[in-house]
Amino acid sequence: MTSPIFAEPRAAYLHVPFCAHRCGYCDFTLVAGRDDLAADYLRAMSVELSSLERPREVETLFFGGGTPTHLPPQQLAALLELAHEWFRLAPNYEWSVEANPFGLTEEKIRLLADAGVNRISLGVQSFDADVLKLLERDHRAVDVLSAFERIRSRLENVGLDLIFGVPGQSLDLWRRTLQQAVELRPTHLSTYGLTFEKGTTFWTRREKGTLCQLPDEVERDMYSASMDDLAAAGFEHYEISNFAKAVGQVSNLPIAEPTFNHGQVENLPHEGFRCRHNQVYWQALPYFGFGPGAARYINGVRESNHRSTTTWIKRVLSGQSGLAMREELPPEHRAREALVLGLRQLDGVRRDRFRHLTGFDLDELAGAEIARQVAIGNVDDFGHGIRLTRQGLFVADHVIVEFL
Ligand code: SF4
Repeated sequence: MTSPIFAEPRAAYLHVPFCAHRCGYCDFTLVAGRDDLAADYLRAMSVELSSLERPREVETLFFGGGTPTHLPPQQLAALLELAHEWFRLAPNYEWSVEANPFGLTEEKIRLLADAGVNRISLGVQSFDADVLKLLERDHRAVDVLSAFERIRSRLENVGLDLIFGVPGQSLDLWRRTLQQAVELRPTHLSTYGLTFEKGTTFWTRREKGTLCQLPDEVERDMYSASMDDLAAAGFEHYEISNFAKAVGQVSNLPIAEPTFNHGQVENLPHEGFRCRHNQVYWQALPYFGFGPGAARYINGVRESNHRSTTTWIKRVLSGQSGLAMREELPPEHRAREALVLGLRQLDGVRRDRFRHLTGFDLDELAGAEIARQVAIGNVDDFGHGIRLTRQGLFVADHVIVEFL
């Protein structure tokens, strides 16, 4: 049977690069304070989407940013319409939109819900005024609460993104943040350690000594607290940074029936509110991608668009390709990539699925490294497959590169 890698993508990502301002730690593809570009962006998006030639059926659709909900209502409506023009939503689809609490009006939520969006990922980061200020976020805790309430009046599936390891943040404060997030009863939580990326103002401030990174041990304790506290609150830890409620734990709203994968993301009953779109990436399945900086993976070929929004718009509107990078992965490279992506998931990498997906035997490809990591205690070999241990999760980035 053909590998799902070569099946037609059943997932699509649309990048929306607009934000009110750039937060000091952020190195995402975006333009801040350039709302004047939105009309051209929409025209370019329409052109790039037309490369699909015909509407495609997808199981997952994801609008990421930037801040997709920063678009004013009329332009947000136009983007939702474009998505409907080019994508047919499969039964039991998941359509996620990233949103920020500030400016998430009832009108925008209504537009999203009426268009069929059924999952919101809310960039909360913290409920603490000092942490939010340091991160240069433009919302306050009270904005989170009101935005959450407004979303919940229309949509069940709401996830929150949180950041730990922020200079000045204590372990106690982080645990309070987790507690406050849990009390809102979201379906999903993502907890990310703050990183200092080259080119950001946080990077420069750290270099100059005006911003102090927290010691590794404190960050480690914070990650450990996320795992313990969220497990105690009934969240399943399913990926290094991601936690989801099980079906039925949040309320009685109807939940999608499970499907089984033939090039589609696995959506088994126990998976509850895991983000199905992100699982497409971690399961090394194909996906479409549109917009500045967007990546796609089709027929074993990785491509990504120009990261500069103005360059991408100019190129696409003048009839050129928005592509900045194209890489056809050799089979072994593809297999190793699938292995490291798969290891991000707490379910790990199953030997049978790995062979079906990549054509490689897991042990022939990486047996020696698996044995080494098992001996160190970073990886657990459970017979049907391998996965990171709790110890391995703390050093996941280091373990994962050993398999490349
Ligand atoms: S709101 Fe999010 S995407 Fe926009 S600048 Fe801040 S961190 Fe980056």
